[in-house]
Amino acid sequence: MSMSTYNLLKKHFIPELLMSSIFILQARILKLSHVTEVSYDCCLNTCCCFTRTYTGLDSCPFCKHAWYNSEGHLYKKYKYLPIEPRIKSLYLTDCYAEVLRYHSLPRDSEIEDIFNGIHYQMLHMSDTSHN
Ligand SMILES: [Zn+2]
Repeated sequence: MSMSTYNLLKKHFIPELLMSSIFILQARILKLSHVTEVSYDCCLNTCCCFTRTYTGLDSCPFCKHAWYNSEGHLYKKYKYLPIEPRIKSLYLTDCYAEVLRYHSLPRDSEIEDIFNGIHYQMLHMSDTSHN
């Protein structure tokens, strides 16, 4: 959760609620969800993340805005929650785990949904392991 999101929630949605600091909230969210936020330096105009081939640059290759200001501080960070730990976290909850296993339940021969379709059945029988 970014500071601006925290301030927005605090100001507009739950002003009467005594919210913990953003750092305490983030620690609680991490503990409950098992999901860690990932952040990357990015262009102020959100043109690109300074990763991989853009790591060694001083400015954005698209809009030419500098990566850092004159004091050496970056202008912006891009933050997101990776999908893999989010899905793993869903499997930790019994009710969601049951829902997520829905496609593997035994079925009769009638077509009820996409999991009865020929294409899905062919994919299911083929090697779908990811390397
Ligand atoms: Zn840019």
